[in-house]
Amino acid sequence: MAKLLEGKPIAEAIKQAIAQEVSAMAKKPVLASVMVGENAGAESYVKSQKKVAENLGIEYQFHKFAGDTTESALIEFVQKLNVDKGVNGIIIQMPLPAQIDYKKISQFILPEKDVEGMHPANIGRILFGKARMVPCTAASAMELLLSTGIDLYGKEVVIVGHSEIVGKPLALLLLEKFATVTVCHIGTSKAGKLEEHVKKAEVLLVAVGKAGLIKGEWIKEGAIVIDIGINRVADKIVGDVEFEAAQARASYITPVPGGVGPLTVTMLMRNVVEAAKAQNIK
Ligand code: NDP
Repeated sequence: MAKLLEGKPIAEAIKQAIAQEVSAMAKKPVLASVMVGENAGAESYVKSQKKVAENLGIEYQFHKFAGDTTESALIEFVQKLNVDKGVNGIIIQMPLPAQIDYKKISQFILPEKDVEGMHPANIGRILFGKARMVPCTAASAMELLLSTGIDLYGKEVVIVGHSEIVGKPLALLLLEKFATVTVCHIGTSKAGKLEEHVKKAEVLLVAVGKAGLIKGEWIKEGAIVIDIGINRVADKIVGDVEFEAAQARASYITPVPGGVGPLTVTMLMRNVVEAAKAQNIK
């Protein structure tokens, strides 16, 4: 029976270290959070970010814009934040209204202030093994995985899902540790090869958003399973992996909810502190 890999205790330990670091800083780090339009999910995410930030001694500036804000107006505001010496990090809350392209906006955020790690320059740094700002969900999955004490050198690692915010950065971070990385996606599933790849995984990371996609019987005995997916099924939140059947075979497994999720805001705050440190040195 697999041990549970819970995010909360790891988040608490990292938060303690961040709070200590912040208390020794001459100036409070400042995170500017930008939201466009109304969205209940984003509002609740903002609330939790604000609470965590303030508990850590980080100032949380909230900027809300009307739902009909244009892309160019948002870019103009981001550029103002870029030159504002009082702001260390910038986060754009999702979802954005249809007229605004997040990928385009993220390219206008100064890489030094891009605490979500989505600017091409920051993604490029991961590619070159010089990561500075790692996208928060990928960073959370790595923290959970490394908390098991695993040596990734030469391990068969399978990632399911190849999005820019999770699967692709994870693949690069794992390559950096000399794991043998296989990245599966919709093409793998359509070719009927997902089971074959998952079955050989000593470490399996799944970020798709489809409940029950990964069958418990596919899990290799003793594998580490990091389930990043979030799905609402009959008023319950579940991941992408059939939990009970997978738990019977794995050595470690993340619960959903309670695994990756509780760590992501902490990773965001870690990026804010790293950004502030880098900016104050200059
Ligand atoms: P995306 O929709 O951007 O990416 C999903 C990925 O899964 C794509 O690469 C897609 O391939 C692939 N995919 C779709 N269907 C299949 C299939 N049948 N077999 C194999 N691969 C498939 O989602 P995100 O990366 O943003 O998020 C993934 C999941 O993680 C979601 O459930 C999301 O809610 C969750 N999440 C959780 C977070 C947390 O804090 N715990 C934070 C962020 C996300 P293609 O694009 O080619 O179709």
